Amino acid sequence: MAIRIKLFLFCSLFCFVTAASAQQSSVDSAQIRGAMEFLASDALQGRGSGGHDELLAAAYLASQLREIGIQPAGDDGGYIQNVSAEFDFYREGKKQWNTRNVIGKLQGRDEKLKDQVILLTAHLDHLGVGKPVDGDNIYNGADDDASGCVAVLQLARALAHKKAPRRTVLFVFFGSEETGGQGNLYFLQHPPVPLKNIVANLEFEMIGRADTAVKPDELWLTGFDRSNLGPELAKHGAKLVADPHPGQSFFQRSDNYALAKQGIVAHTVSSFGLHKDYHRPSDDVSHIDFNHMKEAIHSMLGPVKWLANSKFKPEWVEGKKP
Ligand SMILES: [Zn+2]
Repeated sequence: MAIRIKLFLFCSLFCFVTAASAQQSSVDSAQIRGAMEFLASDALQGRGSGGHDELLAAAYLASQLREIGIQPAGDDGGYIQNVSAEFDFYREGKKQWNTRNVIGKLQGRDEKLKDQVILLTAHLDHLGVGKPVDGDNIYNGADDDASGCVAVLQLARALAHKKAPRRTVLFVFFGSEETGGQGNLYFLQHPPVPLKNIVANLEFEMIGRADTAVKPDELWLTGFDRSNLGPELAKHGAKLVADPHPGQSFFQRSDNYALAKQGIVAHTVSSFGLHKDYHRPSDDVSHIDFNHMKEAIHSMLGPVKWLANSKFKPEWVEGKKP
């Protein structure tokens, strides 16, 4: 009986503390909106891949990581990984390309698990300035992929809150995804941690608007049935379902794919409902559903925290590894 009373008191206290900390580490609407309004503003001129405006976005994301308390893991003690190399541009052939990634690291606290790395990513570039549509030539890329960058920042805030997770978490914003993933390819050749240590990658792409093909509060995961990562995250509270647009081959269309081809269990989280503003100047902040975005990010906090603290190592389903 005494034990039960003590247990009851302990549970009450524990639940109170848990509820209080959950409140503090939940997502912040004003932070989400503020970051979106900067990244997708006309001032950033559409964050064109490899250019000065992409660098502005990179510098902003780096400063945010600093403020949050994430350690730098780029070049020379900073957050930015400078990319300068020759890449194969399919139609145009090989050419020199300069871009940059932003890399931050939250060191795991568990001696046995800290060498295992969870990789959370988004791409910081978009299409820049281009052909005018209805008098607008700035391709702001609010949904694609300022929304993903902001999701990764919010996850960084939540994970850095109070004590670090047991596993190490890397936060990476890739440059030049829109031109073929040059930032990502360079990252794979110059990783800040051994690639074999990365147990899972979640790329966040286009979560700024709801997809009517799934329930309003759901997100989908590309290649859901290829590994046990999606189902396991769903078991731990993620409102994650299979990609309802298999004909679009989204698993192969983002930065997760190059990682997956290296063997890393890597998928993209999205709620892109094939809206007509895709890759048009009208993909701007005025078309973002901030309520959806907040709920979407919030729904991933608990499951990602669980993943960063667990021993669970996701695996490819037999025959489904790309
Ligand atoms: Zn994108």
